[in-house]
Amino acid sequence: MKPTLIIGGGVIGLFSAYFLQKEGIEVQVIDQGDMLVNCSTGNAGMIVPSHIIPLAAPGMISKGISWMFSSKSPFYIHPRVDAKLIKWCYQFYKAANPTHVQRSVPILKNLSLLSKALYQEFRDEHPESAIGLQEKGLMMIYQTEAVEKEEIEFARLANANGLQADVLNADDIRTFEPNLEVKARGAVRFPGDAHLDPGKLYGFLKSYLEDKGVKFLPNTKVMGFEKKGEKVNAAITDAGKIDVDKVILCGGSWSGELASLLGFNLPMMGGKGYSFLQENKPEIKQSSILTEMKVAVSPYGRQIRFGGTMEIAGTNQKINLNRVKGIFEAINRYYPDFEAKFPQETEIWKGLRPCSPDGLPYIGFAPGYSNLLVNSGHSMMGISLAPASGKIISELHQQKDTALELKGFEVDRYM
Ligand SMILES: Cc1cc2nc3c(=O)[nH]c(=O)nc-3n(C[C@H](O)[C@H](O)[C@H](O)COP(=O)(O)OP(=O)(O)OC[C@H]3O[C@@H](n4cnc5c(N)ncnc54)[C@H](O)[C@@H]3O)c2cc1C
Repeated sequence: MKPTLIIGGGVIGLFSAYFLQKEGIEVQVIDQGDMLVNCSTGNAGMIVPSHIIPLAAPGMISKGISWMFSSKSPFYIHPRVDAKLIKWCYQFYKAANPTHVQRSVPILKNLSLLSKALYQEFRDEHPESAIGLQEKGLMMIYQTEAVEKEEIEFARLANANGLQADVLNADDIRTFEPNLEVKARGAVRFPGDAHLDPGKLYGFLKSYLEDKGVKFLPNTKVMGFEKKGEKVNAAITDAGKIDVDKVILCGGSWSGELASLLGFNLPMMGGKGYSFLQENKPEIKQSSILTEMKVAVSPYGRQIRFGGTMEIAGTNQKINLNRVKGIFEAINRYYPDFEAKFPQETEIWKGLRPCSPDGLPYIGFAPGYSNLLVNSGHSMMGISLAPASGKIISELHQQKDTALELKGFEVDRYM
C-alpha cells in the first residue's frame, strides 16, 4: 500500500495525521526540519474562538504604516524589493475591507468553536497527554482610550455573534490577577477562550502517532514531485523518491514554494515572531494579551511565556533583538512588579506564522489535482484551528461530507 504523505510536521500536519490514522489510513509525515523545535512548539498556545477578525482588516493598514517606523513595534514589514512580497502586500491591502471582515467572522468562528470542542474531546480521550489545557479565558488588557474604544467595539461584535465578552474596569481586573498590579485602563475578557502548552501538545502528538504506526521522516526535504494527469504519484526528496497514494500539503510558511513546484499559486509569507519563558514571579494567573503592544501572556503555573511581534519576513529566521526588546519592555509597562529578566539569545524561541494575504487558511483540494489536499496558512491561529482543520482534511480525504462549509478557505482563491 502506498501511504498518504503529509508534507510538514508542524501542528497542522500532526493533527491531519491524527484524524487520518484514526480512520485507519496509512500516513507518513516528512519534514525538512528536525521536528523538535518549529513554529508549532514555542508559540503562545492560545485557543481563541474570540479571534473572529482576520489579520487583513481595515484598521491594519493605517496601524501597519505607523508601526513601520518603530523597530520595536508589534507589526513590521521590512521594505525590500521582492516581487512576491509586493504582490502579497497588494493582496493584503485589497482584502483589508469591511466586506471581507463580515464574510470571515462566521467562518472563523465556526472553525474555532469546532476546534475548541475537539480539544476538549482530545483531552478527555487522552488524559495522559498533560497538554496543560487551561479553560480560564483570555483578557485583552488596554491602557489607552483609543484601544479601549476598539476593544469595546470588538466586544460588541463578539456578543452579537454569540460569543461572551465582558468589559472589565481596573477593579474587576484585580479579581483575575490578585497577585500583582496590572497597569490598565480596563480589559475585555473572553471567558470562552483557553490556552495550552504547545511544546507538550506537540511532543505528545508525535509520540502518540509514532505508537500508532505513523512513520516520521525528519530532516528530509521535498524537492519536487512526479505527476501524471491530475495525480501526484511520488514526492522527490533529498533522500530519494516516495511513492504516494495521496499528498497533504502542510508546509507552513514554505507552502507557497511547494505549491509552485506543483504548478499552482498559493500566496504565503512567514510572519516572524518570538517568545521566551520566565519564572512566573509574582504569579500572573490570567492568560492575556497586552493589546497596545500585541504581546501574548501565557501562564503555566511557575513558568510563564511572553510572545509577540509579527514581521513579514518570507522565510528568514534570523533573530532581531530589537523586536524581542519590544516584547520584553511591554512586561513591566503592564505589570510593573513582575520580576522580568531579559532572556539570553539561546532562550529566545522564534517561529514563522504562515500568513495568507487575506488572513484565512487554505483548506481543501488543490486546483487541478484529485489526490492533493492543502491545509495551511493558519497565521496567528494554527494551534487554535489545527484540530478542526485536521478533521476536515480527513473527511475530504475520504470523500465524506465535511463538518463545516469550506467557502472562504478555497485553495484556488488566488488562481
Ligand atoms: C510568537 C508566536 C505566537 C503564536 N501564538 C499562537 C497562539 O497563541 N495560538 C495559535 O493558535 N497560534 C499561535 N501562533 C501561530 C502558530 O504557531 C502557527 O499558526 C502554527 O504553528 C503553524 O503551524 P504549521 O504546521 O502550519 O506550520 P509549521 O509549524 O511551520 O510546520 C510546517 C513544517 O513544514 C516543513 N516544511 C516546509 N517545506 C518543506 C519541504 N519542502 N519538505 C519537508 N518539510 C517542509 C517545515 O520544516 C515545518 O516544520 C503563534 C506564532 C508565533 C510566531
